[in-house]
Amino acid sequence: MRIVHWFRKDLRLSDNSALHHAVQDAKGDVVPLYVGEPAILTRPDMCGRRVRFVLDTLRALEKDVKSVGGKLILRHGDAAKIVAAVAREVGADAVYWNEEYEPALRARDRAVADALERQGTRCVRFHDRLLVAPGEVRTQEGNPFTVFTPFQRACLLVPQEESLPRVAKLAAARAETRPVARAEDLLPKLGLEHGTDEIPDAGEAAAKARWIRFAPRLAEYAEDRDRMDVDGTSRLSIDLKFGTISPRTLAALVFAAAKEKPAARKGAEKYVSEMRWRDFYAHVLFHFPHVEKRSFRPEYDSLRWEENPRHLEAWIEGRTGYPVVDAAMRCLRATGWMHNRARMIVASFLVKDLGLDWRQGERHFMRELLDGDLASNNGGWQWAASTGTDAAPYFRIFNPVLQGKKFDPDGAFVKKWIPELAGVPGDRIHAPWELTPIELAAARVTLGKSYPKPIVDHGEARGRTMARFAAVKG
Ligand SMILES: Cc1cc2nc3c(=O)[nH]c(=O)nc-3n(C[C@H](O)[C@H](O)[C@H](O)COP(=O)(O)OP(=O)(O)OC[C@H]3O[C@@H](n4cnc5c(N)ncnc54)[C@H](O)[C@@H]3O)c2cc1C
Repeated sequence: MRIVHWFRKDLRLSDNSALHHAVQDAKGDVVPLYVGEPAILTRPDMCGRRVRFVLDTLRALEKDVKSVGGKLILRHGDAAKIVAAVAREVGADAVYWNEEYEPALRARDRAVADALERQGTRCVRFHDRLLVAPGEVRTQEGNPFTVFTPFQRACLLVPQEESLPRVAKLAAARAETRPVARAEDLLPKLGLEHGTDEIPDAGEAAAKARWIRFAPRLAEYAEDRDRMDVDGTSRLSIDLKFGTISPRTLAALVFAAAKEKPAARKGAEKYVSEMRWRDFYAHVLFHFPHVEKRSFRPEYDSLRWEENPRHLEAWIEGRTGYPVVDAAMRCLRATGWMHNRARMIVASFLVKDLGLDWRQGERHFMRELLDGDLASNNGGWQWAASTGTDAAPYFRIFNPVLQGKKFDPDGAFVKKWIPELAGVPGDRIHAPWELTPIELAAARVTLGKSYPKPIVDHGEARGRTMARFAAVKG
C-alpha cells in the first residue's frame, strides 16, 4: 500500500498524527506532498513575512524529509486538482492529512475529499492541530462552550494523548516537483512586501531551539508573561501556527520541565492554560463561523463606529501620542511580533479610544503578524472590543497610561521603540504631556514636534465609548 501525506500546517516529522499513521499503514511507503495554493496566497490578509517564514520552513522540511530517505513533492495550484493528480501519478491508495478548522480551509478540504472520492482514492483525516478537538468537549446541555473557564475545566478531563515518535522512513517517489520558491521572486508576484527585517529561524529544529531557550524561564512565566519589558514568553506561537511543533509535544515538554523543577509548576500550569486559549478560539470559530465577519454577539453588529482614516493611520504608524501604544505598533511593524499584553492594549485603544471598528485592527494585525492566525486573532480582537464570547465587559476600558506604568514600569519597552523619549525618566515616560516645560526640555522632547501630542483625550474617549455601547445595550 502507498499513501500520500499532504502537509499543510503540520510542517514537521515528529509527533505528526496523520504522517505517523500513514507510515505505519503503508510500512514507510509514504509520499510527502505540499501544495502552494494561490487561493490562500492571494488572500487580502496575507503577509509577506508569513510567506517568507513558510518558504524557510519548507526548505527545512525538505532537508528533514530527505534525511529519512524521502523526497518532498512540491506543487503549486488548486489543492483539489493537485492532490488528486499526485495521488494518481504515484499510484497512491490513500491520502492522509491532519484536520484544519477554519471555515475556508474546511471548504477546501471538502473539495479535495470529493475529488479523491471521484477517482476512488481513500482520504483519511486526523485530529492533530489542538490539544482538544472541536466537538470533543461540550456543556452539560450539549452546546459548545462560550466561556473560557468551564471550557478549560472540561478540557482537563480529556485524557491527554501521548506524543508520537518521529517518522524514520519516507518514500522517494518519482514524481514531478519544483524547488521551494525564493521569497524575492514570489512576493512581488503576490504584491507583498519582502521587508528588511530578519525573521525567526524556521523548521522543527528552530522550534525546538526556541523551546530550549525558553524552558529555564518557565518558573517565572506566571509573573513575567505580562511584562512588556521582560523577554518572558516563549515566542512559540509561530511554531504552533505552522505546526513546526505539535501542541501535544509542547504541553508534554512543559509538564516534564515542571516535574524536573517543582518551582516551575505554577508557570507550567499557566503556560498550558494560555495554550488552551488558542484551543478555545479555534473551537469558537469552528462552532460559530459567523465570527469571522461579524460580532459573536449579534446586538453588537449595530454599533456605530467612527470613520477616521487619519486616526487609523496614526495607530498603524505608532503616532498616537500614547507611548505604550506607539511602541507596540512600531515593534509590530519592525518585527512582525507583539507581546500579548501590548496586543490587548493597542486593540483596546483602537476600539475604545479611537472608536474604530475592531475589524480594521484585526485586518492590520493579519497583514503584519508572523503568527497571524484567524481564530486567535479574531478571538483577541473580539475580546478587546467586548463583542466576543468571553469578552472584557464594555465598561472595562484599558487606560494606556496605567497599563504602561504597570507592565513597563521603568519605560524600557517604550524607550526601545521610541528613542525620541529616551531622556524621560522612569514611568513618567507613559504620559509625556504631564511633564513640565523644564522636564521636557531636559529630556529633549518637544511635544507635537519630536513626539506627537495625544490624538485623543482618554477620558473623553472613554465617555464616547460608554455611550456607543450603551446605545446598543438599549
Ligand atoms: C488582539 C490580539 C490578537 C492576537 N492575535 C494572535 C494571532 O494572530 N496569532 C496567535 O497565535 N496569537 C494571537 N494572539 C494571542 C497572543 O497574543 C499570542 O499568541 C502570544 O502573544 C504569542 O507569543 P508567545 O508565543 O511568546 O506566547 P506565550 O506567552 O509563550 O504563550 C504560549 C502559547 O499560548 C498561546 N496563547 C497565549 N496567549 C494566547 C491568547 N491570548 N490567545 C490565544 N492563544 C494564546 C499561543 O499559542 C502561544 O504561543 C492575539 C492576542 C490579542 C489580544
